[in-house]
Amino acid sequence: MASPASDATSDRESGQAGRPHVLILGGGFAGVGAARKLRRADVDVTLVDKHDYHTFQPLLYQVATDLLETAACADPLRGLFHEQRNVAVHEATVTGIDLARREVQFAEMGPVTYDYLVLGLGAGVNFFGVEGAEEHAFPMYTLADAMRLKDHVLQKWEDADRDPALVEDGAVNVVIVGGGPTGIESAGALAELYRSNFSEDYRRIPQAQARIVLVEAGSSLLPMFRSKIRSYTKKALEDRGVEVLLGEVVESIEPTRVTLKSGTVIKAHTLVWGAGLQASPLVELLGLELQHGNRLPTEPDLSIAGHPEVFAVGDIAWITDTKSNDVLPQLGSVALQAGERAGENIARLVAGKGTEPFEYHDKGTMATIGRGAAVVQTRGGHTLTGKAAFLAWGGVHLALLSTGEDRTKAVVDWTWAGFTHERPGRISVRTDEP
Ligand SMILES: Cc1cc2nc3c(=O)[nH]c(=O)nc-3n(C[C@H](O)[C@H](O)[C@H](O)COP(=O)(O)OP(=O)(O)OC[C@H]3O[C@@H](n4cnc5c(N)ncnc54)[C@H](O)[C@@H]3O)c2cc1C
Repeated sequence: MASPASDATSDRESGQAGRPHVLILGGGFAGVGAARKLRRADVDVTLVDKHDYHTFQPLLYQVATDLLETAACADPLRGLFHEQRNVAVHEATVTGIDLARREVQFAEMGPVTYDYLVLGLGAGVNFFGVEGAEEHAFPMYTLADAMRLKDHVLQKWEDADRDPALVEDGAVNVVIVGGGPTGIESAGALAELYRSNFSEDYRRIPQAQARIVLVEAGSSLLPMFRSKIRSYTKKALEDRGVEVLLGEVVESIEPTRVTLKSGTVIKAHTLVWGAGLQASPLVELLGLELQHGNRLPTEPDLSIAGHPEVFAVGDIAWITDTKSNDVLPQLGSVALQAGERAGENIARLVAGKGTEPFEYHDKGTMATIGRGAAVVQTRGGHTLTGKAAFLAWGGVHLALLSTGEDRTKAVVDWTWAGFTHERPGRISVRTDEP
């Protein structure tokens, strides 16, 4: 494949003059994967993220439900590159991308030019215009979202414990929107928190009055999975006290009420949104044709059409698998592997070689429902449920964590929770108190 000319000036602050400059936007799985594969390349790398940490999204629901402490779900980005001297990290927000000038603009610093660009800005919540969602729903896509939900739920239980009339008003009820993996995992984790820890923490609040309602517009949960898995998931959630409403659509959300299109009004002071994603809105500035969910279509080597020096990876990208011709899902393992391939391809271009196509090595799509309950399906159609799936889920997610320290923290917290049913994160720390 083509080698892009690299005549732009670069704003790298260190490294050897004249080396190509690789600018990586986003320090998620995709961006970090790309940077790591440039370790031995003769380039200077600048990685920019609006946060100074890398977020491990698959475990956000465990932070939100007090199972994991915040630090187990995030890593300082700078720390990830202590051993990689050709990487500089900046905390800054991308505001514009000019492909023609090979320049990126930021809110907090001057523009930066590049020879090669990696777009790994991920995706964010899509509320599909539902009335009140922007103001009152709790999405689950960032660490701040998870911490907000955790504090909100704890506060609702404390308020209801002081004033039983609030229980009647639905203060401790939660509605979760979306029967995909995010909704399933959030519902299962909230059910375990409610039915085990909170039943002891708040003995005055009857569990029968603490409703957890999962609302899904389609006719089944986990539509991308086989029917055996779909029915297992529904039963496992119901066994844990989750009410599953299928074929129902949320019409509007108020602070204490959720109205469904069918006319049903649910008293609930908390609504968790796990229903939709859209790629970073910055892609709309590129003037390129986008696919469903605002995703940027990629060439087989992950570059974007007409720009062999620009690679799109992870949730922002619409990647068609070269082997199966399927569009790959927005998953951590896809993002990591694609980021790595983009990094390798840039290293090859710099060394005067051609790029190679991306091939995804599938480890299965999976979701946890609770302790000892999970589902796994490989692209070949093999399925696992129950404890075996739970162990497979644990293994795959431990492998995705960025550092050995994270893995140790997660294993210690999961094992501790498994034996004791304890959730160490069950505290609210107020930073605004006098
Ligand atoms: C709740 C939840 C559960 C999930 N569970 C699983 C799972 O079990 N297994 C699995 O494989 N996948 C799971 N996923 C999907 C997986 O987390 C994503 O596919 C993966 O994180 C995508 O990686 P990425 O690098 O493309 O994007 P991200 O991880 O989202 O990283 C994008 C980065 O870009 C930064 N950024 C965004 N906008 C800007 C800007 N304007 N300026 C600067 N920086 C910016 C962000 O701060 C972020 O660090 C889950 C996702 C969620 C939300």
